[in-house]
Amino acid sequence: MHDLETDGHRARKRFGQNFLSDPNIIRKIIDGIRPQPGELMVEIGPGLGAMTEPLIERLGHLHVVEIDRDLIARLHERFTPAQITVHEGDALKFDFGSLCNDEGAQDRQRLRIVGNLPYNISTPILFHLAGFADSVKDMTFMLQKEVVMRMVAEPGTEEYGRLSVMLQYRFRMGRLFDVPPGAFRPAPKVMSSIVRMAPLPADQLGAKDEELLGRIVTAAFGQRRKTLRNTLRAFLDEADFDALHIDPGLRGEKLSVAQYVAIANHCAALR
Ligand code: SAM
Repeated sequence: MHDLETDGHRARKRFGQNFLSDPNIIRKIIDGIRPQPGELMVEIGPGLGAMTEPLIERLGHLHVVEIDRDLIARLHERFTPAQITVHEGDALKFDFGSLCNDEGAQDRQRLRIVGNLPYNISTPILFHLAGFADSVKDMTFMLQKEVVMRMVAEPGTEEYGRLSVMLQYRFRMGRLFDVPPGAFRPAPKVMSSIVRMAPLPADQLGAKDEELLGRIVTAAFGQRRKTLRNTLRAFLDEADFDALHIDPGLRGEKLSVAQYVAIANHCAALR
């Protein structure tokens, strides 16, 4: 399959490049973000600048993280250093917390993160960003609709899984609206959605050992058809299930986020 050319740039599939081209959708997304002058914001994957320009107009200055050298060169030509700080490289390796560090501890400005995310790295980037929740005010992303449905899914539904539990543990999330393939060049094959994520206050999180929570959730959803008795065998025996008031005959998709936290804390206490 050939890569398509947009605005003189050959869209690279390996970087998940689908550029927004519908001005009404762009306006709707920017209105949804509601950027205010002086806010600390970073855009992941600015691409040809569809969102970058209106964001800079409203904010004054914007940080961006972009991997494609050709696009980086264009950004430097189009915007002044006072308007944009370009961080060249892979967003999956970028230390988003470093953008907040210049301020004194008391009036430290929290970061807003936005982006029309490359679909090929959507799950790893969400997990990477979850690690910076303490430094973040909110995040607004465009993602494949199917991924957004999994992020916001309720227990007991087919879409509910590891992504739902681990993100809902840390963020309040809401799907804002859908964006059809025709809004992009080249058009992707799938529908997209805009999702808003706001970190929950640290005292609401509750897991004593988050790494252990992650391992338990991964095990519970590793083999979706098996019951918790099987998938969590390494963590819980029948007496533990009794103590937790959880039926070991259930499948992982039936448990709420709070129940996973209860399991992780039970296991942490046993150590
Ligand atoms: N924001 C632009 C828009 O809405 O038209 C472009 C969106 S396009 C779906 C994704 C952008 O992310 C591209 O500019 C691509 O080069 C960039 N990108 C892909 N992988 C990346 C990575 N690992 N780190 C940083 N940027 C990446």
